[in-house]
Amino acid sequence: MDKKEILKEFSSNPDRYYKVNLFEEQGFVRKSCSKCSRFFWTLNAERDLCPDDADDTYSFIGEPPTTKRFDYTQAWKQVEEFFVKNGHTSVSRYPVVCRWRDDLYFTIASVVDFQRVMGSKVVFEFPANPLVVPQTCLRFKDLENVGVTGRHFSSFCMIGQHSIPEGDKGYWKDKCVDLDYRLLTDQFGIKREEVVFVEDVWAGGGSFGPSLEYFVRGLELGNAVFTEFQGELGKHTTLDQRVIDMGAGLERFAWITMGTPTAYDCCFGPINEKLFNKIGIDSDSEILRRYFTEIAKALEKFEDLNEVRRHAIKKAGLTDDKITKMITPLEGVYLIADHLRTLIFAITDGALPSNVGGGYNLRMMLRRINATISKLNLKLDIDDLIDTHIDYLKDTYPELDEKREDVKKILKIESLRYEESKVHMKKKAEKIREKGVPSVDDLITLYESDGITPEYLKEANAISEIPSSFYSKLSDLHQSENKKAVTELPVDQLPETDALFYKDDPMEFDAKVIKIFDDKVVLDKTSFYARGGGQEPDHGTIAGFNVINVDKHANVIVHQLKDGVPKEGDTVKCVVNATRRANITKNHTSTHIINASARGVLGSWIWQHSAFKDDDHARLDITHHSSLTDEQVKQIEDAANSMVKQNLQVSIEYFDRGVAEQKYGFRIYQGGVVPVKAVRIVSIQDKDIEACGGTHVKKTGDIELIKITKTKRIQDGVVRIEFVSGPTAFEYIKQQEIELKQKEQEDAQKEILAKRREENKQKAREKIPMLLEKILDGESSADGDNSEIDEIITRNKMCFTASQQYDEYFHQNFGKKLVAKDPKTAFCGIFESGPTIRIMVHAGEQSGVNAGVIAKEISLILGGSGGGDAKFAQGGGKDTSKKDTAIAKAKSMILG
Ligand SMILES: [Zn+2]
Ligand SMILES: [Zn+2]
Repeated sequence: MDKKEILKEFSSNPDRYYKVNLFEEQGFVRKSCSKCSRFFWTLNAERDLCPDDADDTYSFIGEPPTTKRFDYTQAWKQVEEFFVKNGHTSVSRYPVVCRWRDDLYFTIASVVDFQRVMGSKVVFEFPANPLVVPQTCLRFKDLENVGVTGRHFSSFCMIGQHSIPEGDKGYWKDKCVDLDYRLLTDQFGIKREEVVFVEDVWAGGGSFGPSLEYFVRGLELGNAVFTEFQGELGKHTTLDQRVIDMGAGLERFAWITMGTPTAYDCCFGPINEKLFNKIGIDSDSEILRRYFTEIAKALEKFEDLNEVRRHAIKKAGLTDDKITKMITPLEGVYLIADHLRTLIFAITDGALPSNVGGGYNLRMMLRRINATISKLNLKLDIDDLIDTHIDYLKDTYPELDEKREDVKKILKIESLRYEESKVHMKKKAEKIREKGVPSVDDLITLYESDGITPEYLKEANAISEIPSSFYSKLSDLHQSENKKAVTELPVDQLPETDALFYKDDPMEFDAKVIKIFDDKVVLDKTSFYARGGGQEPDHGTIAGFNVINVDKHANVIVHQLKDGVPKEGDTVKCVVNATRRANITKNHTSTHIINASARGVLGSWIWQHSAFKDDDHARLDITHHSSLTDEQVKQIEDAANSMVKQNLQVSIEYFDRGVAEQKYGFRIYQGGVVPVKAVRIVSIQDKDIEACGGTHVKKTGDIELIKITKTKRIQDGVVRIEFVSGPTAFEYIKQQEIELKQKEQEDAQKEILAKRREENKQKAREKIPMLLEKILDGESSADGDNSEIDEIITRNKMCFTASQQYDEYFHQNFGKKLVAKDPKTAFCGIFESGPTIRIMVHAGEQSGVNAGVIAKEISLILGGSGGGDAKFAQGGGKDTSKKDTAIAKAKSMILG
């Protein structure tokens, strides 16, 4: 929809769309900007320019238009007090991780809190009407502006004033604008003439309406949107639910009363000062006032941020010295304070820095903080900064205080990991540079398994550009996981299947065949659980035919049969495989238990990422930063089994979605968004409460036993826990015990053998003098009656052995002594030592043998290297497949 068209239409009829009682009462006049011709409302009849074009733009810097001064947290107290006094309910902020919308990762506006997607429609669910909320919103679009412009944040508090006019509740335009005007003038003490309202429109998601933006000295403080219509302009209709969506920036409310050079100066509490002191910034407020006023004005004029900066520097008359000693460090301090505040909110609400989805933005922000710290050469204690932030914010946001330690832990791990990965990433980048251009698939593998982004590779000159298909391919890969789409069947005309598994859940029942599609059957009612929420479908029989699959198409349950189908209209006997169902149910309930246990053991950032529950195995993927240690796995398993042992009640209740959210919080959305108004809440007392549509045991004791069989970090930020429960767990343990026993036996056997070998070697060492004597006496293997000498083949006083009963000590000493006693002799031994095959050669001076040459050549055969001199040399290699070749060669070289 073209916003310009709508604005033109609405502004051509201002009485209908924009004129409110307040304007009449107070004597506001409507003017058109002499520069841009936008329409605005003002008490100053002389005023010709809209707030963006007027000369007083940002003149509040250094000269605030209020008598009262409020910093960030004080400003919220004022706003809250005002709206509560005027009949509003003050609602706590919603999480910044937008768990209730699967099209958004982070909460980007206060109105999003109350939007729920139902099919293709967005509906509003207000926990109170009217209400006000201090909603923290995350936006990463203008990250390069943060710290530089004086007013851009990566997260900010949107004061949300929301109302739906229905009956005696809520209100519409007149009251809204009246409240906003009185908030500025009465509560904040801004002079009446300072307030200017500008006509605008809002359009999105198929609906639209007029809006009034309100400004003071060129600073837009808020925007009251009146969402009233739907459809195309001209063909539009009025919405059933008209909504007031007034969003205002709390940071700006504080700023206008403080008149500080930037909004950062009055919104981060004592953190800035702490950092200024640390760096020793020379903060001449007169220069800063001039500089940031110029920045604010130039922002409207130039597209490019560098240009804005250059322009302001020139206008404010800053020297290079002032820029390096004052502006650059200031920008760094603001960036650190801003990014850290955003990370605190996001991690408190359960997000983790990673390479996936919104986690990527968090990782990038922490890296920007670290880069700034090293650029400015700062020695900062991040924990201390986190404390300062939270101490300042905890009155407004007490939940931050509860997660203080978790935030510290996550940021510490993430910073450390970055430091560690730098070396690895550099090496990888070098390798890639050598290999040539990597394919898109290579890049995806690098990204997913090593956490190396193509941006990093580009920075490191390993690739010249990021292939345009990279991100689309990556998102396709991640989508296909969810897209195990059921082939759509034409079920529109069929009645909704009566789902007995949510009722008395009989394992045998009679049902009427409503419809047949090839091998698929639709019944009027069914106890067969249809695949959903990671739970595999029930099996069993319908009219004697085996049920091999069950899926849900909208509200119709479709059974797939094997080897035949009944006739439409027949009443058939249906039997659910009760054992399979019982096992699946145990595994399913165990995912709740393991999820809760993991959260207890590991930390508040643990969320279900996804889950799969079959009858003989199951898995739960959780959001966690590192691989699990054996100790952690044991703790989780113990905690889970303790819940089993306590035999806790598993209860199921239906709630209105809004009620459930208010009562239990957004933790209920472990399995993702719930697209229905009545949510099914499954609670294991107060230990785990989730919205879930699966089948569950009645008491945790029914599960009997949970056994974790394997854990693995499957992607950055996600750990998979594989487990079994109930009879399968007992079976697993039995199998484990058998395997353990087998292994023990094998180990014992091996030990005996090793011991025997050791004894033999010892015996061999003791025989050295006797063997020497025999060989020097000329006894040879040819005699055949001497087994010891058999092991050492001799020919013309040349000795060779590859017998395993001799160890290194033997070869070393025997050979040395032999050639010392008779310089005509030589000795070569080949023996195994660990994974290598070694060779040792001793050659007497008159033997005519060169020890070095032999050792070198044999080692080469064995895939290793050898060295020494003509008298003594040794070597070896790991290629055991060449052992026989090496022995044959050595034998021939020594014995001739
Ligand atoms: Zn204008
Ligand atoms: Zn469940």
